[in-house]
Amino acid sequence: MSSSVHITDARFEKGIIGTDPILKKTVPHIVFAGRSNVGKSSLINSLLARKHLAKSSATPGKTQQINFFPVTVEIKKRRRMFYFVDLPGYGFARLSEKRREKLRKLILWYLEYSGVIPQQVVLIVDAKVGPTPFDKEMFGVLEKHGYQYIVVANKIDKVPKTHRVKYLTRIQEVFQGARVIPYSAKTQEGREELLNVLFR
Ligand code: GDP
Repeated sequence: MSSSVHITDARFEKGIIGTDPILKKTVPHIVFAGRSNVGKSSLINSLLARKHLAKSSATPGKTQQINFFPVTVEIKKRRRMFYFVDLPGYGFARLSEKRREKLRKLILWYLEYSGVIPQQVVLIVDAKVGPTPFDKEMFGVLEKHGYQYIVVANKIDKVPKTHRVKYLTRIQEVFQGARVIPYSAKTQEGREELLNVLFR
């Protein structure tokens, strides 16, 4: 599938840990959520075709805030601005229970009480590990608010071809009615499809 979508500019603007003037801007939010180590940073970087823009969970400082990346996209020769909003990875193993709960609250605050209505939420799950309890909680929140969202099954390259249907079905059964895109930040599988869903 060839894309009519081109990322012309992307940079890091700021990280927030609560209410902030950036939330008042009218720029549409495309939100990325997923457990720590699911490959969220790699996926954002692969979508934007930037190697090191989003920081991976190897650098937990930056990943304990909600990070905003202004992204300029050329769609059918028209330029539009979006914020890519990188939510903290949840369940980071090296964090204390208290710290993890704080991050969970921060994520839920952004989605439920910040006043923002995301244009699209990308819920990233590990194709092989499958959905976690917090992924299911997120699903409930997205459904409750009627947000537009898409499930991305990242690291699909790690699933043997013969097991793809089984693993994808397992994910689809949890996220009933959602569109699930098999993705690999490593091989770029799914990139065009996801770009087209986000910016069509
Ligand atoms: P984050 O914590 O969700 O931001 O995850 P990272 O982007 O830091 O990725 C965690 C680990 O998974 C790193 O070692 C990545 O190289 C690896 N990874 C990320 N995406 C993929 C993928 O699609 N396929 C494979 N095989 N590995 C990946």
